[in-house]
Amino acid sequence: MPSLPHDAEALPAGQAHADHDDRRAAADDHAELPVPVSAPMRHAKVRAFTDHTTVGQVCVGAGGSVTIGCACGMTLTNGPGWSLDEHIRLHRAEARFLALSAVAPEGIPRLVPHPAPGATA
Ligand SMILES: [Zn+2]
Repeated sequence: MPSLPHDAEALPAGQAHADHDDRRAAADDHAELPVPVSAPMRHAKVRAFTDHTTVGQVCVGAGGSVTIGCACGMTLTNGPGWSLDEHIRLHRAEARFLALSAVAPEGIPRLVPHPAPGATA
């Protein structure tokens, strides 16, 4: 019967395939783990994003100043050593940090102390 060599050959191949499937299953399980971001922190991040979108048009002033408004009311601008883009990026990062930091779990190790030293809150 020709099935014996076929089966004998199929077993290691099947095992190898099974091992491969196990690895893939483990990777899939890992992908299906809950995202390690709490709901309050996720909401804070979304709020920070919507509260700090640029509004209106870029205004080019005399002397090369370039400004644009932020939804929070602050005017973002270029400066002697930074571009408007750099200010927008820093502003958004600061807003995200403040929003996330305000709702982060108590006792979580931090790179930056919160509230900031000297802050009254
Ligand atoms: Zn803003």
